[in-house]
Amino acid sequence: MRITLFRVDAMPLVNKKKCVSCKKCVKKCPVDAISMKKGKAQINNDICINCGKCIKVCPVKAILRDREIVELEVASNIKSFKKNLAKSKSKKSRNRMIKNRMRQMKVQDKVLRDTLKEMKHLKA
Ligand code: SF4
Ligand code: SF4
Repeated sequence: MRITLFRVDAMPLVNKKKCVSCKKCVKKCPVDAISMKKGKAQINNDICINCGKCIKVCPVKAILRDREIVELEVASNIKSFKKNLAKSKSKKSRNRMIKNRMRQMKVQDKVLRDTLKEMKHLKA
């Protein structure tokens, strides 16, 4: 089961609005994790080793750092949840929605933590 209640990316992420398609990051990446899609850089997180070289070489700061990604993801998650909350018809249902979503997020958190534990065993 794959839970995707909220986005939780933590690898470099390209801000497509800022990317000017120079391909400098593509050339710099040591593991060929970056490709161009519809004229914009795209990082394959399964291949990326998080070396940060693409972040340094980008002339327009289009590639976000972990801290910036966290801020962006949190803001985006809250914005989308607020949209759903606005549909609730009463204070009671609003609070129920919040409580339920928090419960789901705790499950999501547990899945991530347990997956991390399992991944540690994969190290050679
Ligand atoms: S962080 Fe390093 S490995 Fe990951 S995409 Fe950028 S250059 Fe490639
Ligand atoms: S270096 Fe920056 S601007 Fe150039 S392709 Fe990569 S992300 Fe886009």
